[in-house]
This record gives sequence, C-alpha cells and structure tokens, in this order.
Amino acid sequence: MLDLLKKSFNKIADSVAEISGAGITIDEKRVDEALDEIELDLLQADIAVDVLDQMREAIKERIVGKKVKGRKEVIEAIKEALVDLLIVPAPAIVPPPEKPYVILFVGPNGVGKTTTIAKIAYLLKKEGYSSVIAAADTFRAGSIEQTEEWAKKLDVRVVKHNYGADPAAVAFDAVKSAQARGDDYVLIDTAGRQDTNENLMEQLKKIKRVVKPHLTIYVGEALTGNALYSQLKTYEEELGIDGVILTKLDADTRGGSAFTVTVGIKKPILFVGLGESPDDLKPFEPGELVEMILG
Ligand code: GDP
Repeated sequence: MLDLLKKSFNKIADSVAEISGAGITIDEKRVDEALDEIELDLLQADIAVDVLDQMREAIKERIVGKKVKGRKEVIEAIKEALVDLLIVPAPAIVPPPEKPYVILFVGPNGVGKTTTIAKIAYLLKKEGYSSVIAAADTFRAGSIEQTEEWAKKLDVRVVKHNYGADPAAVAFDAVKSAQARGDDYVLIDTAGRQDTNENLMEQLKKIKRVVKPHLTIYVGEALTGNALYSQLKTYEEELGIDGVILTKLDADTRGGSAFTVTVGIKKPILFVGLGESPDDLKPFEPGELVEMILG
C-alpha cells in the first residue's frame, strides 16, 4: 500500500542523508535536486501538479539549513512536513439543540456514498444517536434497495419515494419525518454521475435550498487519482463543500489523493473508508496516514 510515495520520500532521505553523515548543513540546492529527481514519481502517485510546489516548499522548510545527523532525522522531518500539509480544521458534527442535524452526501457514483452513509449511521448508532437515511438517489437502478438493505441490517429508518422522483422532495420528507420522531441526524444519499452533469448539479442545489443541510460532505475515492482534483473543485464551486470522506484507502497503492484534498482544495478530510463493512470507517488522522506512507 502507498508504495510509490514511500519509495519517493525514501529517495529524498537517501540523497540528503548521504552528506548529512559528515555533519554538513543541508543546502537548498541539494534538497531541490533530490526533489526534482522524484517529481515524476510523485505525479504518478497521484500528487496533483498544484500540490507538488506546496509539498516541495513544506519539505524544504523542514530540512534546508539543518544539520541532521542521519537518514532517520531526514525521514522524521519529511513526516512532519507531510502531517502539516494534511491538517485542515474540520467542522464539528454535533447535533444542535433543534434536531435533526442534516448531512448531505454528494459525489460521483460508485465511489461508496451509500456504503459510507451506512457506516456513518452505524457509527452514530454506536454513539447513541438515531438517524434516518433519505434515499434521495432516485436515479441509479437498485440504489433505493441497496439503502434499504443496509438500513435493515443496521436497524435505521429510511425515507424513500419511487425512482425518478424529485430528490429534494425525498430529502424534505426525511427531515420532516426526523423532526416528527425526534431523530438526531438525517443522512441524505444522492445520485452521482461519473462526469459532472449540469442537471445533477441543479438537483443537488435544489436539495440544498430546500433542506439547508448543516453539512455537505463530498465522498470521493482514493483511487480516483488526479481527476479527483477537478471533480472536487467543480463540486466546491457549484455547491460548496464542508468536508470530504475519502473511501477505498485500503485499495489505494498510490496515496496522493489525501494531499489533493487538503493541499489542493484546502478541505478537511473527516473520515476515511478502509473496507466494505460498517466498521471500516475511521476518523482521518494525518499522523496515521503519514505513518502508513513512511512508517
Ligand atoms: P455509490 O454509488 O457511491 O453509492 O457507491 P456504493 O456505496 O454502492 O459502493 C460502491 C462499491 O464500493 C461497493 O462494492 C462497496 O462495497 C465498495 N466500497 C465502498 N467503500 C469502500 C471502501 O472504503 N473500501 C473498499 N475496498 N470498498 C468500498
């Protein structure tokens, strides 16, 4: 997992550490050369072009001018730089006094939105909160049944209409139902398309206007690669995004997506998906990801 990034950063450490044994202060040129050498590898590891420069500066800031004793110290400095890059303040997801707290989930299809919503419902349940899922993906065949299946397994309520119904109406009904029953959270599943489709964006905007969610979360998969940058940017510009859940990190061998989100788009990653069962959702810990890359 994340092998390419690991290899790249180790190359910098090797290159810089070659001279550090002699107790020489690390100069900028040396670090620039080492970074030049791994630039292509970083791009292949899904580090977006826009992210590269900021990553370069962050690493240089931690190393240039230092007298490091060896390779280990260089690696520690790179780790610190990477953790800094991954930290973006996140909003608290706490239900307000006037329940319910409404969360809108958006993102391309197939990335794991429905599964992620089930995982969130499960997490909330474990914390003692009730939630209702709005099956507002009325576009993809089978999506409503998939939501119902999860809901049955987790013993969570679903509000649904028929396929082709107005997703905003489903979301609205779910909020009304949660208000009537005193539920803590409403989790709104929505349709996605691989390409960002104008009609879809209008539908999502309508949901936002109608239910005014407290939080809009973009669900994206770590495997998307560099396309994640433009996809997320479009959703941010069209709709406004408060945070991101990055799915399928368990299947990602490149590892650059998290940096695209935090450095490229400056959005916090709230959770990461690490598998297909309800328990496979973890709060995002920058330190843990960096340990996965360089530990
Ligand atoms: P949606 O179209 O965005 O609602 O995506 P689904 O929730 O239907 O998920 C698509 C596929 O991705 C399913 O087979 C899920 O089991 C799988 N999936 C979702 N999240 C993860 C994850 O974190 N890791 C892995 N390996 N698979 C996942």
